[in-house]
Amino acid sequence: MEKYIAVEHARELILGDLDAALSAEKVDLLASLGRIICEDVVADRDLPPADNSAMDGYGLRASDSESATHTQPLQMPVVADIPAGKPWTGQVAAGETVRIMTGAPIPVGVDAVVRRELVEELDNAIILENPVKSGNDIRRAGEDIKAGEIVIASGTRITPAAVGMLAAVGMPYVAVVRKPRVAVLATGDEIVDFSQVPGPGAIRNSNSFSMAALVQQAGGLPQIFPIVRDKPELIRKALLDAVSGNDLVLTSGGVSMGDYDFIQDVIRELPDAEIRFWQVKMKPGKPLLYSRVASIPVIGLPGNPVSTMVSFEQFVRPLLKKMSGFTGSELLLKKEPAIALEDLPAPGDRLHYARGIAERDGEGQLTVRLTGAQGSGILNSMVKGNCLITQPPVSSGTGKGSIVEIEWLDY
Ligand code: AMP
Ligand code: MG
Repeated sequence: MEKYIAVEHARELILGDLDAALSAEKVDLLASLGRIICEDVVADRDLPPADNSAMDGYGLRASDSESATHTQPLQMPVVADIPAGKPWTGQVAAGETVRIMTGAPIPVGVDAVVRRELVEELDNAIILENPVKSGNDIRRAGEDIKAGEIVIASGTRITPAAVGMLAAVGMPYVAVVRKPRVAVLATGDEIVDFSQVPGPGAIRNSNSFSMAALVQQAGGLPQIFPIVRDKPELIRKALLDAVSGNDLVLTSGGVSMGDYDFIQDVIRELPDAEIRFWQVKMKPGKPLLYSRVASIPVIGLPGNPVSTMVSFEQFVRPLLKKMSGFTGSELLLKKEPAIALEDLPAPGDRLHYARGIAERDGEGQLTVRLTGAQGSGILNSMVKGNCLITQPPVSSGTGKGSIVEIEWLDY
């Protein structure tokens, strides 16, 4: 077991233990949004399937229109009406036009379309004052996608546009990486369910809900377990229960230095279990415990509500993203430099994650200020904040007006 390690190293250890993304599952097209597709999708046909009109207008032969001028306009008879979806099988002869709507297939003989606002429309004819170029306002068969082409490659994150494309190529179901199943356990003798009136010294369980919400938002399927009391036997039973059938187990509390912090002792005694590290050089979030039980990662998040959430952001979100098929910078929060609007506290020997409110000023410069009190129990700082202000371990704090790095929490 490693102890009191740097954030980067801790993240590497956690991510390094996961070889590959989870397996694939078939889901309804719309349910694929935001997830990673696990198959190459090939177009079954050209799109558009045929040459068609880009405008509501009139189809004609460009060569017939060459002599049209303002002073000597051409009158051309309209021989057919072609709405979209109703191909016309006739042919256009010299000097004739067809009324054609956007998306309707171009009939034989027509090689140009003139939009209706550019002609004078009579009952059964049009008056044309200008020549029309060959190919004008015609969309070509296959100009969007060609039959046989890969339109969405395996490993792509499905965006709304990709959902549209998958519909366009006739995919009611798609194979995507399945969602990680995550057991969420709060521990602590003082913790009570929110349905109960807290007695003396008791507090409501907020961590199970913030953890479950973070899991859900990161693309996982949280399952909230009953609150676990600080008794080794009960913790042991709950952990074994949680490990079976889940891809990840998250606990909160019980990993610090207290007399009733039993998670580490319990895991050490479990069969097929290994504690990989304990304590990370960060503030808040120092007591984090990372272990594997029966090859399932079990992450003991600190109990203080802010520590729980900040540790989740640094370690659990990247792991869930990797399980879900994401790679590289997609695993991490987005970073950006910002100007500090106030002095920031000295972080000591640990990487400090202060909660901040980042905003652009009148000139478009990104600025950041603290949310207020920064204690690891101030859940309100997470409610108000939209970013973490990262301060590397240095001896003195950061002065007002300095450039600091923030990590965005508005996903
Ligand atoms: P622990 O790490 O178990 O000593 O807990 C640290 C602090 O976090 C204590 O003040 C706990 O009351 C608080 N805490 C632990 N678990 C929860 C929870 N599920 N919801 C809210 N606060 C908690
Ligand atoms: Mg506790």
